[in-house]
Amino acid sequence: MALIVQKYGGSSVADPDKIANVANRVLKGYMDGHRMVVVLSAMQGETDRLINLAREMGDPPDPRELDVILATGEQVTVSLFSMFLKAEGVHTTSLLGHQACIYTDKAYGRARIVGIDASRIKELLKKGRIVTVAGFQGVDEVGNITTLGRGGSDTTAVAVAAALKADLCEIYTDVEGVFTTDPRVCKQAQLLPKISYDEMLEMASLGAKVLEIRSVGFAKHYNVHLRVRSTFSEHPGTLVCPEDEEMEAIPVSGVAFSTQEARVSITGVPDRPGIAARFFEAVAQANIVVDLIIQNSSVDGRADITFTVPKGDLLRTLEIVQQVGKEVGTREILSDEHIAKVSIVGVGMRNNAGVASRMFAALSQAGINIMMISTSEIKISCVIEDKFTELAVRVLHDAFGLDQPRVGKG
Ligand code: ASP
Ligand code: MG
Repeated sequence: MALIVQKYGGSSVADPDKIANVANRVLKGYMDGHRMVVVLSAMQGETDRLINLAREMGDPPDPRELDVILATGEQVTVSLFSMFLKAEGVHTTSLLGHQACIYTDKAYGRARIVGIDASRIKELLKKGRIVTVAGFQGVDEVGNITTLGRGGSDTTAVAVAAALKADLCEIYTDVEGVFTTDPRVCKQAQLLPKISYDEMLEMASLGAKVLEIRSVGFAKHYNVHLRVRSTFSEHPGTLVCPEDEEMEAIPVSGVAFSTQEARVSITGVPDRPGIAARFFEAVAQANIVVDLIIQNSSVDGRADITFTVPKGDLLRTLEIVQQVGKEVGTREILSDEHIAKVSIVGVGMRNNAGVASRMFAALSQAGINIMMISTSEIKISCVIEDKFTELAVRVLHDAFGLDQPRVGKG
């Protein structure tokens, strides 16, 4: 008999029939003798609808009141779900964030969980109940309702699983698990039976949307075994877990891509201590997150700096850089929105030589020029022209043998 936390996303609870389907899945686990805690998202589209509704009262809406309205999406699904189970004669209790004692800081709209008092959930489980917890929401120290940021129900599920020391946390969604790359871009994409926390963190930050990134960090920190699987099939999905030898033998586990960034180049920057700091401090002060940075070696005491920022922050970045550029004296400031970042990820990169050269060779054979490169221990990213994104993904997927079905046990 295990303690299992199951989280169902918005598409799994999109209407009453789907909620009934979820309830039957949960019931199956319960009948098998497991203790079941269920975390639910709002119905698909509901959170967006509530945001738009709030905007009609003035844009941007007041952050505190926005969290009050957003929390109602999950309140609806946990109550409907519990009504269905009760009508079937099953003992169940729904809990909102504050009732489940999910404590957060007071950063409305992007609150962090600071602690969970799991004693009420434990007590209900002891009484043989199925416990249903509203995802995405918590309460701050003075009782204000907070929300965790978009996709935050994944984090609720993992945090509740950690607090309960659950045996497993299953994240149910509308895809079968984590794939080697986006199956919409590359038909040969394969389902991964398992992936390490670090690889999943990289994949999530590089644009793979199957799990919210904060939940993966949480899972790693508390060693929660996560399984990502589909609500609409019996496939076991993908296990997200600590690294093992089998994973280390494979140099590349997946290919990720993003077209959400833009490139800024500053040419003729005076090559003296403190100049780069001037630019990047000013950008950071505006809360703009810089991703890749390269600086070429200087000629005649002047260098070029190129970096990427989220597309939505490009205009503000250019204003800032132009201002600092005037103060320190530069030649030109250029920008390019037509870029993409393609990345390969794998813990096996650490002890397999030649991974980078294979990546560059594969791109060059396809006639794709590399504009920027960045690496970490388990990732290599290249910035290319965005019109080549899909081609690059397919070429890299093929070059690293990812088209072959994975056999390892998840
Ligand atoms: N309902 C929230 C959202 O749409 C939280 C979640 O679904 O995880 O972002
Ligand atoms: Mg989600």
